[in-house]
Amino acid sequence: MDYHALLNPSQAAAVLHTEGPCMIIAGAGSGKTRVLTYRIAHLLEKGVDPFNILALTFTNKAAKEMRARIEKVVGPNAKNLWMGTFHSIFARILRSEADKIGYPRSFTIYDTQDSKTLIGQILKELELDDKLYKPNMVLGRISAAKNKLISVQQYLNDPVIRQDDEAALRPKLGVIYQQYANRCFKAGAMDFDDLLYQTNVLFKDHPDVLNKYQNMFRYVMVDEYQDTNYSQYLIARKLAAKERNICVVGDDAQSIYAFRGADIQNILNFEKDYPELQVFKLEQNYRSTKNIVRAANSVIKNNQAQLRKDVFSDNEEGPLIEVFKAASDNEEGKLVANSIYEDKMNHHLSYDDFAILYRTNAQSRAMEESLRKLNIKYKIVGGLSFYQRKEIKDLVAYLRLTVNPNDEQALRRVINYPKRGIGDTTIAKLINAAEESNHTIWEVVANADQFLPARAANPIVDFAEKIKAYTAVAAKDDAFEAAKFIAKNSGLIEDLYADKSIEGLSRYENIQELLNGIKAFVEDPEREDKTLASFLQDIALVTDADTKDAQSEGEQVTLMTIHSAKGLEFRNVYIVGMEENLFPSQMMITSRADLEEERRLFYVAITRAEKKLTLSYATSRYQWGNLRSCEKSRFLDEIDPQFVDFKFSAGPVGSAGPGESPFGHVFERRSNLVPPAPRKTVATKYSPPADFKPSDTSNLQTGQRVEHPKFGFGTVTKLEDQAGSVKAIILFEEVGEKTLLLSFAKLRVH
Ligand code: ATP
Ligand code: MG
Repeated sequence: MDYHALLNPSQAAAVLHTEGPCMIIAGAGSGKTRVLTYRIAHLLEKGVDPFNILALTFTNKAAKEMRARIEKVVGPNAKNLWMGTFHSIFARILRSEADKIGYPRSFTIYDTQDSKTLIGQILKELELDDKLYKPNMVLGRISAAKNKLISVQQYLNDPVIRQDDEAALRPKLGVIYQQYANRCFKAGAMDFDDLLYQTNVLFKDHPDVLNKYQNMFRYVMVDEYQDTNYSQYLIARKLAAKERNICVVGDDAQSIYAFRGADIQNILNFEKDYPELQVFKLEQNYRSTKNIVRAANSVIKNNQAQLRKDVFSDNEEGPLIEVFKAASDNEEGKLVANSIYEDKMNHHLSYDDFAILYRTNAQSRAMEESLRKLNIKYKIVGGLSFYQRKEIKDLVAYLRLTVNPNDEQALRRVINYPKRGIGDTTIAKLINAAEESNHTIWEVVANADQFLPARAANPIVDFAEKIKAYTAVAAKDDAFEAAKFIAKNSGLIEDLYADKSIEGLSRYENIQELLNGIKAFVEDPEREDKTLASFLQDIALVTDADTKDAQSEGEQVTLMTIHSAKGLEFRNVYIVGMEENLFPSQMMITSRADLEEERRLFYVAITRAEKKLTLSYATSRYQWGNLRSCEKSRFLDEIDPQFVDFKFSAGPVGSAGPGESPFGHVFERRSNLVPPAPRKTVATKYSPPADFKPSDTSNLQTGQRVEHPKFGFGTVTKLEDQAGSVKAIILFEEVGEKTLLLSFAKLRVH
């Protein structure tokens, strides 16, 4: 194959450099993944046996795509490559080696739910409070330890870890870890992190096994190397130790999984591990227009911890980046959906060309709703559609029971959630009693004291009383008031709030978003019936349509979080929710390092777009059913304004801020280490020179650089003539955008 026709010189050099270690740390869209693909094709063409090639990707989807592309070049031989995620590949290896470390080869893989259930049981046995030791949090802690290869013994003996846990008032974490590991081992089960942890144990304790795989994987390749954790790094290093044919590709500017243990240090270690390392630089972005690439560069420049790279594009200039300002999140959804519809029609595109990216899962609701209204098909990648999510189904089950207590599925779902001591056997007895006595299960529940001894009956009677109370509330209040009451009174909100893990937070936000949706429903002037029953009927149809959509093939807009968009590309990309506290996320920024990770996430999002990028924000958003004003994201101001077209004047809006939930939960930035960039204040470092003289501004043009005695230096971005007096919108370097009346403003033109 003529690689020089398909690749630029640096790419071709990286493809042809097959022997010895090499690293490509290069910007987004510069062809890193393409290089890996052709590199493998080249190895195969050279006669390397596909069984000797190991390629590690970040998602199974990426592996599948890469395999398909290689197959196109070299044919069915590509099927025999070892290609997949770290987890899938090493699960496969453990299948044939697990007996060496005491596990059956037929070991079970526990999914997250299995792990949490097991932790729940251990907590019970140890008589620990599962509110303090939330299973999700405990699992996160164990996972972090495993990914740093900290064994149970090390965990128990490490004074620093002990101090940490004691300071967090959770001194028993080590003991839980110990019990958990023992129980998994006895059950012949590995959790997700074990797949990597135990592989490391296997390679450490069994040099013969390691040797076998070193001989087998003569060529090792890792995509998205910046997001590997220590455990993965070590596996790759061990496997490549003999042949030293390892090639890693990544981009430090796209490292977005530090919160899951990914370690940028792995890039720096790589240079130390292989002094003979060949480094290839790729600087040309083939994916995006000039405007998009330059905008992305101007954003990432704000990070201090960054290897310097100059990414450029030879593609067309392309349109400016559009920014939509919407009055509310629902309007934001409408603007985006309309824009997708129009673009598709005007440019003869397919819905497959569009992606909507957001920071948090809860944001999908407003987008989904607007797309459905325009009959635009969509799919949610890497997550469930809003109404399919567990916590949403839980609250909806309460709402359904409220409207119809005979709803058996709903009843089963929540009779013991949140936990109220109604065990499986009791539930089985209730079902039995209902069948035998020919009553509905609700009738049995409502009269449980007649069927069961008092001790077992009490919690059930309490539950029935709750549901009756909800029915009464729903009869007099509208759907929003009723749902809010039920969410709180059922204990669901409290249960989710107690879980401070990232997943827990996302679930809490989803409930908030459901309530926002109900609020929008009751406030819709076109609706006459604002009852809970009517709302449920509405969403029952949605849920049904969702399932049909999911099955149907054909063009679809893709919706997903930015995290799941890594490595992908779309013709037109929308990044929504560009607001302070949402993106950057208020929950995530406690330090400069966190803020920089959020910024890298923004960089990843921007660089997914090929031709057109649109950003949007809302000036108000419902929070727990209350309308709150929001401030546009500082990230919008970080994009060099020459690449941006603000569709609407985008001055600072109202005061924003973390809201307080009606349940007394206050969400504040965890610390104020990184306050938003000053925007409303006029206190600047700039002080006017003694000889400051205003210029004549009657011929002022956009793009001109000006100086203001108070605001400092800035660039004119827009001039508007309003009834004879001219307004200038000026983007000042220190204080952001200001609108000034030229007849009053003292400006010096440069
Ligand atoms: P990311 O950092 O987002 O993972 P990447 O560096 O892996 O990006 P690729 O996905 O490999 O980049 O490439 C981006 C796009 O540019 C792809 O569509 C790819 O096919 C195309 N591309 C890369 N190099 C070339 C080239 N030399 N000629 C033509 N197209 C190219
Ligand atoms: Mg890539």
